[in-house]
Amino acid sequence: MDSDKIEGRQVDSTRSPRFSGVTTFARLPHTKDLSGVESVFMGIPFDDGTVFRSGARFGPKGVREGSLLLRPYNPVMKVRPFEVLRMVDYGDLDPVPGYIEETFGRVEAELTRVMRKGLVPLICGGDHSITLPVLRSFNRLYGKLKLIHVDAHADCWDKHFGMSYGHGTVFRRASEEGLIEDNETVHIGLRGSLYSDRDLRDIEGMGHRVITMDEVESDGIDDVITEIERCIGSSRSVYVSFDIDSCDPSIAPGTGTPEVGGLTTREVMRLIRGLVRFKIVGFDLVEVSPPYDVGGITSLLAANIFYEVASVIAVSKGGKDFGT
Ligand code: MN
Ligand code: MN
Repeated sequence: MDSDKIEGRQVDSTRSPRFSGVTTFARLPHTKDLSGVESVFMGIPFDDGTVFRSGARFGPKGVREGSLLLRPYNPVMKVRPFEVLRMVDYGDLDPVPGYIEETFGRVEAELTRVMRKGLVPLICGGDHSITLPVLRSFNRLYGKLKLIHVDAHADCWDKHFGMSYGHGTVFRRASEEGLIEDNETVHIGLRGSLYSDRDLRDIEGMGHRVITMDEVESDGIDDVITEIERCIGSSRSVYVSFDIDSCDPSIAPGTGTPEVGGLTTREVMRLIRGLVRFKIVGFDLVEVSPPYDVGGITSLLAANIFYEVASVIAVSKGGKDFGT
C-alpha cells in the first residue's frame, strides 16, 4: 500500500461509519513508521501519580473515543491540520503500572527516540506526573523551555506523602531540574482551596507568573493571551501543558481533582486558538479520567482541544487554507 496515500489521512467517514473499525485518534492511521510525519498523537496511560480519584490511565482510550467526530477542516482556523502535519496516531508509550520512576525512565527514553525525528508530539495522559519525563525528554533536545501551563492547580507543591514524584509536584521538580525557564513560565486558571497562602507565594517565589481564574474572568481571554505574550515573548519555542481540570466540572467531570468555577468550553477554544502567536514544540493534555466522566463529555472536550492545538500548530507552520 502506498504510505503517501495513508499517512496524515483520516478514514473517510462519508464511506465508513464513525462507529465502525478500530478506534484511533480522529480516525488517523495507527503506525510507528514516522517517515514524513510531522506530528503524532500519543498516549501515556499512567495514573499512579494521582492523590485522589484515579482512572486517567484510561484517558488515551477515552480521548480517542471522543475524537471520532472530528472532521478534516477547521473553519475557524482555516486549516486542515492532519494533512498539513501529516499526523498519525502513534499509539501509547507503555508505563509500568505501580512504578512511577520506572515509568518515567521508559517514557523519557522512548519519547526522546521519537522526538529525534523532529516532530511535534501531542501527548495524552495519564495523570499530570507524566509531564515530568516528557519535559526531561524535551530538555535533552531543546534545552530549557518556556512553559504555558493551564490548570486549576499549579502542581508546584514540594511533596505529597513525603514523596517527590506525583501529579501535584511536577512543576516544582521541573524547576529544580532546570527543565523550564522559571521567569518564562505562566500558570493559567488557578483556583480552589489551598493548604495556606504560602502555596501561592512559593510559586511566585520560583519566578513563575500566576494568572488565577479570577483574573481570567475579570480580564477576558484576549487579555490573558496578551499577558502570556508579555511574560514569555513569542520568539522562542514553548511547551504547553493542559490539565483538563482547568475546565469547569460541569463540562469536564471526568477528572481526578475537580475544582468548581473553571473555564467554559468557549473560553478554552478561544484560549487555545490564541496560542497561534507562539511556536508550540510540544503539547500534553492530562487528567482525563473516563470512569468519572458523564456521557463522554470530558473526552469529547479533550479531543476537541487536541484538534484546536493541531490546527494552531498547522497554521503557525504556514499551512493556512491548505488544500481548500
Ligand atoms: Mn495538573
Ligand atoms: Mn489540576
